[in-house]
Amino acid sequence: MELGLSGKSVIVTGASRGIGLAIAEGFAKEGAKVSICARGAEGLEVARAQIATYGGTVHAQLCDVSDADALVAYIDAAAAALGGLNVLVSNPSGFGKTDDEDGWRLGLDVDLMALVRGSWAAVPHIEKAGGGALIHTASISGLTASQRTPPYGAVKAAVIQYTKTQALQLAAKNIRVVCLAPGSIEFPGGTWDDARQNNPKLYAGIKGSIPFDRLGAPEEVANLAVFLASDAASWVTGVTIAVDGGQML
Ligand code: NAP
Repeated sequence: MELGLSGKSVIVTGASRGIGLAIAEGFAKEGAKVSICARGAEGLEVARAQIATYGGTVHAQLCDVSDADALVAYIDAAAAALGGLNVLVSNPSGFGKTDDEDGWRLGLDVDLMALVRGSWAAVPHIEKAGGGALIHTASISGLTASQRTPPYGAVKAAVIQYTKTQALQLAAKNIRVVCLAPGSIEFPGGTWDDARQNNPKLYAGIKGSIPFDRLGAPEEVANLAVFLASDAASWVTGVTIAVDGGQML
């Protein structure tokens, strides 16, 4: 299938590891120019070098997306470095788990407001390029109840709702808006890798809740993100798609 992503300019925020890195690599494999950000310098440089092995343009910049001014400056700098912008993937989460001020603040700042502010900053660039896509990252926790993570589920649900409204607003600018809802995704150094080693009961419970009896891989989310951003998904907007191996079933 021709995805038409070669030469397109893509920003993936929070992409030094895990799902964000896999998404950035997925775009680079399709010949897209890619910009990534993260807070940690070492991980960002390793990720930049890894993405560069696919041969295309890679831009990387330190940025904490919860810092509104820094986020806007990053998106403008990335669009300049890539020669325009067609796609923004908003990936990081604050993983707000505790039902207290800190948990909610993390969720609101990182999962929701960074995605909103990132959209505001990216849309003029994407419009100038003639259109493109915003890819948001929610979770199946935004679609179902979860006892463990009240702020996380609530802010992800807000992202799912915002996706619908934004899709209506931005169609006139030829911009599609779609949302990923991953289930439990495992990779070295990630939440579920940690649980497998340090909380085997939780890990076994999650694994047992997935009909394929395994957790997902970041590449399985990345494949969906790359497809949704591409011309092949030109009639897909406003939707949230679960990529969870049936975990919600
Ligand atoms: P992760 O392992 O925590 O990786 C997040 C990436 O974003 C890292 O590169 C991290 O680098 C960066 N990052 C974190 N906070 C940031 C901030 N404030 N500003 C800039 N960069 C930041 O996350 P993940 O597990 O891959 O999850 C990615 C997304 O998928 C999240 O939205 C998450 O809610 C969603 N999701 C994940 C799962 C799962 O099972 N993993 C399931 C459902 C949904 P630095 O730490 O260096 O900044």
